[in-house]
Amino acid sequence: MKWYRLFWLSSLVPAVSCAPSAPKEIADLILTNGRVYTFSWDEPALDGTPSPLAPRSAEGWRPDAEAVAVKDGKILYVGTAEEAARYTGDATRTLGVSGATVIPGLIDSHTHVAGLGELESQVSLFGVATEEEAVQRVVDAASNVPEGEWILARGWDDSDWASHYPTWDLLSEKFPKNPVVMQSLHGFAVWGNKKAFEAAGINKNTAAPSGGRILKDAGGKLTGIVLDRAGRLLTDAIPEPTPEQFRGYVKAGLERMARDGYVAVHEAGVDRNLMTALSSLESEGSLPIRVYAMLSARDGGLCREWLQKGPDPGSDRMLITRSVKAYYDGALGSRGARLLSDYSDMPGHKGTSGGEYGFDMELVAEMMRSGFQVGVHAIGDAGNRETLDFLQSVVDANPETRDLRHRIEHAQVVHPDDFARFSSLNVIASMEPPHCAEDQRWAEARLGPDRVKGAYAWRSLRKSGARLAFNSDLAGSDHDIFYGLHSAVTRKAKDQSPPDGWYPEERMTPEEALRGYTVWNAYAAHQENETGTLAPGKWADITIMDLDPLVVGETSPGKLFEGKIVATIVGGKVVYERDKE
Ligand SMILES: [Zn+2]
Repeated sequence: MKWYRLFWLSSLVPAVSCAPSAPKEIADLILTNGRVYTFSWDEPALDGTPSPLAPRSAEGWRPDAEAVAVKDGKILYVGTAEEAARYTGDATRTLGVSGATVIPGLIDSHTHVAGLGELESQVSLFGVATEEEAVQRVVDAASNVPEGEWILARGWDDSDWASHYPTWDLLSEKFPKNPVVMQSLHGFAVWGNKKAFEAAGINKNTAAPSGGRILKDAGGKLTGIVLDRAGRLLTDAIPEPTPEQFRGYVKAGLERMARDGYVAVHEAGVDRNLMTALSSLESEGSLPIRVYAMLSARDGGLCREWLQKGPDPGSDRMLITRSVKAYYDGALGSRGARLLSDYSDMPGHKGTSGGEYGFDMELVAEMMRSGFQVGVHAIGDAGNRETLDFLQSVVDANPETRDLRHRIEHAQVVHPDDFARFSSLNVIASMEPPHCAEDQRWAEARLGPDRVKGAYAWRSLRKSGARLAFNSDLAGSDHDIFYGLHSAVTRKAKDQSPPDGWYPEERMTPEEALRGYTVWNAYAAHQENETGTLAPGKWADITIMDLDPLVVGETSPGKLFEGKIVATIVGGKVVYERDKE
């Protein structure tokens, strides 16, 4: 029988191969010799214990595959290098990734990419040692900018230079015809040339606003530096970007994400300008990574337009719109988040929320009834409770809306009585591990020793049955995946404080942290059948990195920061490759 099949196959398709099970399909791309983790095994238990089916032994994690074959943007095969090689044809590109770790493509489920792109498009002054060096960098980067156009730079160290601020002399000499504004690393000082001060209408007689200073020399003349709240006198004069510039920012932000290993973002708050930019990038095929657009509920006109159209159906398109971002309360740091009782460091103050904060209950409910997922920004324990109450009221009246997987963005401080409501309402807690690492310095001052236990409470939420989604909330926070994983696994800041982690019982395991940036985010976009794990038939969305985050996250998490992205693949297309840079 076997002999017969062999004969029959080879007589029919002798050109392909004489092997009995030669695959008919030829791959476009084969990744081989990698440490491939498919994440196709079962979810870990709610306490983080890996499934018995997970690829690990007493020694720890080990990859469950070594190669991936890709065709027409989808995964054709995942498994051994030997078997994958059988999908090779004349046009197949084989990418040997020897030793690198291959995981499902990373997704950041809460971003503001235009802000990131805007930063990218400014001249970087990070690490400059002297005034001359700073000015030279701007000359190198911006000497071809047309006359009159604004030149923006950022990153000179205002702490280091606070005792000897630069002046506008050299900057004005090199740029006599363009306003130049150079923002500092910590945001306390802004440095500009004469043209910029002129354009902003600042002269030696201008009064500084309270809490700010306009620096002058001994003769009372301007020097080119404005401090603290006076910084706005200069930055407010920077013109709004043109639609073409704005589109460039969006593209630059997405390209940066591709370089940093991300295959998709959930863009949290898309208004008309951003939708125009994203749609035009999509229609000309220049979106480097996927965008799951969350319409801004603050743009009522745009939302009403989408109410007419209805949510996008599931598809392979690079831009999908089926979600709405709404805003329920403010931030914890600035004491805008709404708390159930007074701020511990500001008696008599509870923050603001709801209608007072511009939350349009009617519009959001209508979007939900029309089939849109809603992601509501809620930070304080009252903000979260009131948001859950609101979602519950809509779901009670329209039970089918429960299936839309609504989200609370941040879910930063949750009263313990409310943990279980996330899973009962099918609401995803969409959270930022880096916020915990950064906010731990002051969060307890705002909340006191009891309430703080419900803050950034990933484990408590998971144990209650809530689904989580992890993200950065860039551009305000560092989206580096190794930082995100480190934050989730350690609850320590970049400087490794506190030594045991902040409320370490709320930590995630490395597996949970990675799921938080892959398959859990896929679920949060109703895309778990298309992406989030490596399996045949799914989008070929793949991230390759030079360290194994499961092993390193478990054995020496501080070393996660050493990781680098090797390549990013979106829909089978290699959108970033380190070795080609
Ligand atoms: Zn945000």
